[in-house]
Amino acid sequence: MKKVSIVVPAYNESENVQELYLRLSAVFEKLGTHACELIFVDDGSSDKTFETIQTKCPRTKFLECVGIKLTRNFGHQNALRAGIEFATGDAVITMDSDLQHPPELVSEFISKWESGVKIVHTIRSYHQVNFKQLTSLFFYKMINFLSPTFIYPGIADFRLLDRDVVENLKRFKEYDLFLRGIVQTLGYRQEYIKYEAAERFKGETKFTPLKMVKLALTGVTSLSTIPLYFAIVTGFAVILLGMLYLVYILYAKFFLSSVIPGWSSVMSVVLLIGGVQMLILGIIGIYISRIFWEIKSRPAYLIEQVVRC
Ligand code: UDP
Ligand code: MG
Repeated sequence: MKKVSIVVPAYNESENVQELYLRLSAVFEKLGTHACELIFVDDGSSDKTFETIQTKCPRTKFLECVGIKLTRNFGHQNALRAGIEFATGDAVITMDSDLQHPPELVSEFISKWESGVKIVHTIRSYHQVNFKQLTSLFFYKMINFLSPTFIYPGIADFRLLDRDVVENLKRFKEYDLFLRGIVQTLGYRQEYIKYEAAERFKGETKFTPLKMVKLALTGVTSLSTIPLYFAIVTGFAVILLGMLYLVYILYAKFFLSSVIPGWSSVMSVVLLIGGVQMLILGIIGIYISRIFWEIKSRPAYLIEQVVRC
């Protein structure tokens, strides 16, 4: 019997993990053709998430639960990475623990995979538009504008990867892996399933606005160096504007009768150039910080404990 691993990062999700386990057990029970290795990665929760995994998710006929406890909160992407690297299944599915990713879609994943698709993505449809979805749409627009890798708007870390893909993915040793982008660049036969995201089962979102901005910046700077070219383009534009202004100054000096030395124009030029330089420094700074973290090559996550239930 083929085995499918399901990797689920969980950060303070004690109210959700058991429900997800039950729904997934039901899915595999109904399928009756595949075994499931359900891997919960506890990303440094401060509530009873790990205890719940240990005590409330016993083995069933088709499903075996594994709990990986990270030593602290390493963030969603690193938790996913920990789970994917740990997984032993012939395919690996990643999904959220809050049931926003419908567990029932797993059977659709499996049938596509069995028909030979190596990577199955999901695209969330945007029906009711709220603030979060607007910012996420904006994020995808920006990333597609700034990087050569196209990412479908609404794609999430809810996908299936074949074992071959996982083995290749493991060779990407970079710090701060941005899975959504990297997976797109892997090649293989990739297909998309559309789905309607459900409401969070219990609790609140674990993504603070700061975490989202960080993810967006990681996304852009890990996929592309185009922002660095912006620095050059902006630099040229400012030089051009400066030269045009110089022409005007010379014209004014020689041909206009009364030239009052302008405080305001001097100030505006100084401020403009100062601003542009800060911007460019900031962009370069982000890339240098990426090199900084890369060169340290610290482990992306630390595992404290693994339990098989
Ligand atoms: N998550 C995590 N570590 C974090 C933040 C989130 O493992 O630092 C997990 C969280 O438990 C959930 C998934 O990542 O299973 C997605 O988070 P959430 O549902 O809060 O994000 P949203 O759906 O609001 O974007
Ligand atoms: Mg969620």
